[in-house]
Amino acid sequence: MLIDYHIHTRLCKHANGVPEDYVEQAIKEGFFEIGFADHIPMPNEYDPENRMTILELPEYINTINELKSRYSEIDIKLGIEADYFPKYIDYVKKIIDENEFDYVLAAVHFLGKWGIDNEKYIDEFKKRNINEVYREYFETVKKAAETKIFDGIAHFDVIKKFGYKPKNGYLEIATDALETIKENDICLEINTSGLRKEAKETYPNDEIIFKARELDIPIILGSDSHNPSEVGWRFRETIEKLKRIGYGKLCRFSERKRSFLSLT
Ligand code: ZN
Ligand code: FE
Ligand code: FE
Ligand code: ZN
Repeated sequence: MLIDYHIHTRLCKHANGVPEDYVEQAIKEGFFEIGFADHIPMPNEYDPENRMTILELPEYINTINELKSRYSEIDIKLGIEADYFPKYIDYVKKIIDENEFDYVLAAVHFLGKWGIDNEKYIDEFKKRNINEVYREYFETVKKAAETKIFDGIAHFDVIKKFGYKPKNGYLEIATDALETIKENDICLEINTSGLRKEAKETYPNDEIIFKARELDIPIILGSDSHNPSEVGWRFRETIEKLKRIGYGKLCRFSERKRSFLSLT
């Protein structure tokens, strides 16, 4: 096994186990590198039940850094899953600038007041036009890529988490965001957690990964583990798929500097 760059900790209030459990599981599964990318603190009114507080950020950083020095048999990276929400972009940018992360993934979890990947708000999908929802979502992803403050885009199409997908025109709706990712030279995360959800496919799906390959967009691989047993979730088959699509390497990061690892 290779690299898993999307692992959470219980500081986010919805993940199980202690960080050591994820590290031990990764070693058992034969990973030689993993990255924690827990949910970034946000101003209090923004989704406080799904993230650490700003006062807990030092604990997160110290915990991961301590694991880095304790484990010699596996490389551990300090990442963060940073919400892209236009109103709070300066707040997020300040946290990114003031701390020494190895990499920063952008995630769109809210369109206005609607938490799109939160079960609490699932009824919104029944009230809205799905194609319009997707257009608005990918417009937001595009803006995230344009900020130039992120190294990668997490779960590119998490909007499909609950299985609501456009009947047609998916690629057309997503292409502009993909091209913007390419123009800004950031990575696309291939996130296997969609395989555990109603989406029943990776974020993004094969059609989008083909397009990303065509555009020569670099990729990282993440399981979005919120449980130690999810580390490297269905990576074997996903890596085989990526190779079939024509991908030969994955991105890795150290202190925000990107390098590549061969998939073969
Ligand atoms: Zn989470
Ligand atoms: Fe997320
Ligand atoms: Fe995550
Ligand atoms: Zn996530």
